Amino acid sequence: MHAPSFPNRTLEAYADIVEPNRLDRLRLLSEALSDRRILHVNSTATGGGVAELLRSIVPVCNDLGIDTNWLVMDATDDFFAVTKAIHNGLQGNGPPLTEEMKSTYRSVTERNSAELEGEYDLVVIHDPQPLGMLDRLAETMPEAAIVWRCHVDLTDPIEEYRTFVAEYMPQVDHAIFSRTAYAEDVIGPTTSVVYPSIDPVTKKNRSLDEKTEKVERDRLDPLSFDRPLVTQISRFDPWKDQFGTLEAYRRASEEIPDLQLALVGAMAGDDPEGMEVYERVAEEAVGDPNVHTLTDLPDTTVNVLQRRSDVVVQKSLREGFGLVVSEALWKRTPVVGSNVGGIPLQIVDGENGYLVEPDDPADAGERVATLLENESRRTRFGANGREYVRERFLLPRQLSELLEIVVETLG
Ligand code: UDP
Repeated sequence: MHAPSFPNRTLEAYADIVEPNRLDRLRLLSEALSDRRILHVNSTATGGGVAELLRSIVPVCNDLGIDTNWLVMDATDDFFAVTKAIHNGLQGNGPPLTEEMKSTYRSVTERNSAELEGEYDLVVIHDPQPLGMLDRLAETMPEAAIVWRCHVDLTDPIEEYRTFVAEYMPQVDHAIFSRTAYAEDVIGPTTSVVYPSIDPVTKKNRSLDEKTEKVERDRLDPLSFDRPLVTQISRFDPWKDQFGTLEAYRRASEEIPDLQLALVGAMAGDDPEGMEVYERVAEEAVGDPNVHTLTDLPDTTVNVLQRRSDVVVQKSLREGFGLVVSEALWKRTPVVGSNVGGIPLQIVDGENGYLVEPDDPADAGERVATLLENESRRTRFGANGREYVRERFLLPRQLSELLEIVVETLG
């Protein structure tokens, strides 16, 4: 296990962005937790939505006076191959789960839990990767309350993967999901639904001055903000369907010939499929100078791209929540997204973007073209998106809900 680094944050930083009563609520909740120690465990420090959430939740909790730690598992490539299969199986498409895979999983989770030092009142396990640590934690930290936060899309899991995860549920006190439907078949712990959120004060999401934008604009050359641009920002992962996005772009290009597409992806440390999917996507895009495949961009560059794209696309086939949707809407960019998982929680069809069926990239392309041809609609959708996210998907709201669960679970 290792402790990742993350920037400092103060609650005060949110004072100008959200209603004061939201921050007062957080201060009140934190009083009940001032003598408690909380630990978050996940499997990567960078790349993907869970790391993105923890980089904000952990420092803000500490600023509130709640002693909060974050540890990342140490693991091998074969462990991550197994846990990606578990992730895929829970989302409905994985290989058979063999005894050898289970044994790899258990030996790595066991080793990580053996390394865990210190006493905690409550441990939050994120996603399935660290769940196996619970076997030993039940012995070494019997007093600690266990919360499992599952960020995966559980709409249609493969049964053997669902059973594998379910075996750990008796050791979980409370489980948190990103959408009501995901919690339906869970037996054992009490459950709740907490929508994730974006952090408006990070480099990824804060407003930018002109000079910074210009530097980033130059860095992105030959991609141009003077021509129409659609962007998808996602790990290179089959569920994110970059191929469908390419098809949608091609359809939209029939009407907007100088259209550009940016496919941006980070390589998350716990996602072994990234490079392979990236190479296949890059190969598919080769020969089209208007398609830009970009990897591991700094947060400020991602910020500029989400801000300066005319439309953002999220053509996922499954999506636990999809922080990238709220990130774009917060920057007043309309989003065309698939009607799967957490995406319809964020896109109100015809208000701040369009929802399309995941198997219909041509429709996605038509929606993109419609928006590109109608500047006033884009502006209206963008303004709506900003307010929709301000109300529902900013960090202080999520944190209040999480702290309420922590207070209740600790009794
Ligand atoms: N992300 C990024 N650079 C990339 C791709 C993704 O910074 O090239 C970030 C993205 O901005 C978002 C997170 O990774 O904050 C992805 O979270 P999301 O919930 O959309 O998807 P997940 O990766 O968790 O499935």
